[in-house]
Amino acid sequence: MGHADMSHADMSPAARARKALVEQFGVAPSAVWSAPGRANLIGEHTDYNDGYVLPFALPHRTAVAAAPVDGPCWTVWSEHTNERVGFGADDLTLGRVDGWAGYVAGVSWALRDAGHPVEPAVMAVASDVPLGAGLSSSAALECAALGALAGDAAPIGEWPRIAQRAENAYVGMPCGIMDQSAAVLCERGHALFLDCRDSSYQQVPFDLDGAGLAMVLIDTRAPHRLVSGEYAARRADCEAAAKTLGVLALRDVDSAALDEALARLGEDVTRRRVRHVVTENQRVLDVVTLLRAGWIREIGPLLTASHTSLRDDFEVTVPQLDTAVSAAIAAGAYGARMTGGGFGGCVLALIDAAAEQEVSAAVTAAFAQAGFDRPAAFLVTPSVGASAD
Ligand code: ADP
Ligand code: MG
Repeated sequence: MGHADMSHADMSPAARARKALVEQFGVAPSAVWSAPGRANLIGEHTDYNDGYVLPFALPHRTAVAAAPVDGPCWTVWSEHTNERVGFGADDLTLGRVDGWAGYVAGVSWALRDAGHPVEPAVMAVASDVPLGAGLSSSAALECAALGALAGDAAPIGEWPRIAQRAENAYVGMPCGIMDQSAAVLCERGHALFLDCRDSSYQQVPFDLDGAGLAMVLIDTRAPHRLVSGEYAARRADCEAAAKTLGVLALRDVDSAALDEALARLGEDVTRRRVRHVVTENQRVLDVVTLLRAGWIREIGPLLTASHTSLRDDFEVTVPQLDTAVSAAIAAGAYGARMTGGGFGGCVLALIDAAAEQEVSAAVTAAFAQAGFDRPAAFLVTPSVGASAD
């Protein structure tokens, strides 16, 4: 199976960003920060229902190196595009900078809007997070830029909201609070149990190494289609159902009262959407209970049940995701599920650490047989959130 891009294996993103700043702008950085991509262990399409999610940070990170400049403008360069984009104070109004640099301009805008001083700077970006694969490279970029531009001047507790605002209001992407919270708050060897209603969180032990286990992340490379339209449709379905049921959000439907709630909903489609959200919230709580007890292997069936629910009830999978899950389980994975919004993206599988080759080979073979593009797979360990490098 193909592996993640290893062409920079000898240098960390932080080291590359540092070096690039010197090469591109002739100055040494005054600050270098990095932030990770994330995978959601369980709790899919629960965030906008005020529910629970359980992401963990990936070892893959995005780094931003910055240095102040005298002039009136910011300039940002990214290794990914090998392109420089400039913006001035005038551009720090909503949506003025398009494309990838908008995430950085958006952070500058959101910082100022939250009352934190941001001075013009040059910045260099380097990343190991696959872009657009549902691993939240956007939040990694925002949070690394936030650190490089503001550092400790903005209290870290405010970072997720500021970065989310950059993406919601400036870039125009209506994401929840999960991605930015994970990029900032995650701890090594833990998953982040986040309540999307009030943004409260707890660190839950998730020590795969200690249990002889591993998570393999399979990037299906399936082309993302219909994502924004279907996302909006699912959200609307959930909001309408909550209204019918007389609750603020589907989070307020207890799993013990599910049958009663379903009986009050007219359409089969609506019933299935609600059943997914309510059972998925319960699965997050069950996974948290198991992890706290140190029973990692035992979460496997809940991961697989989540996938089945996303496939049959919420209908956000595609054949590549279903194939990767079936093949991983047939090859001995304890459980597997799509992670992210669906309609493409990645699958997470819980395996014995020694089974990586076997599971990867099985998924690759199943993809070849189905005529799908070759997937990429890599092992991921729960890693740390944003840090100064
Ligand atoms: P995801 O967050 O799942 O990777 P998004 O569509 O939310 O997918 O964000 C991907 C976008 O973020 C890219 O298309 C690009 O505009 C921007 N981006 C993320 N990381 C970088 C980077 N290192 N350099 C330039 N742009 C980046
Ligand atoms: Mg994103």
